[in-house]
Amino acid sequence: MELEGGCVCGAVRFGATGDPLRVTICHCSWCQRRTGSAFGIELVYREDQVAMTGDTAATCRHVSDESGRWLDVAFCSRCGSNLGFTLEAAQGIRTLPAGAFDDPSQFGSERQDFRHVYARSRRDWSDLSDKVEIYEKHFRE
Ligand SMILES: [Zn+2]
Ligand SMILES: [Zn+2]
Repeated sequence: MELEGGCVCGAVRFGATGDPLRVTICHCSWCQRRTGSAFGIELVYREDQVAMTGDTAATCRHVSDESGRWLDVAFCSRCGSNLGFTLEAAQGIRTLPAGAFDDPSQFGSERQDFRHVYARSRRDWSDLSDKVEIYEKHFRE
C-alpha cells in the first residue's frame, strides 16, 4: 500500500509505503499549540517507509520541557502546513499527519493501531460527546 499526501499548497509531497506502526492521537498541550487544534493526529512510520518529494520541508526544533528531548517538526515553508516530525525519543521514526494524506479515509481504528495519548490534557470539547452540539456541516447551513 502506497499512500500519498502533502501540504495545502502542494509544494511538499510525500509517499508512505506499507502500514503505519501505529496512529497516535496526541492531546498534549504542545500538540494543541503546534496544530492550533484540539489534538495532533500522526501516523507513525519507519523513516524508510516515507519518501518526501518536491520542496524540502522546513524544520523547527522543539525541546520538551518535561523530558528534555527534542522533536524536529516539519512544515511547508510556503504555506506552513504541518508535515509531521522526527523525534529523539524514537530514532528512525517519522510521523505524518493523518489530515495531510490525499485520502485520509484509508485510516481507521479498525485497521490500524490507534492510541490516544496525553489524555490528561485532553479538552472536553475535543470529543464528539453529547455534551457538545454536533453538526454534520456548519450550523449556519
Ligand atoms: Zn505548502
Ligand atoms: Zn503531543
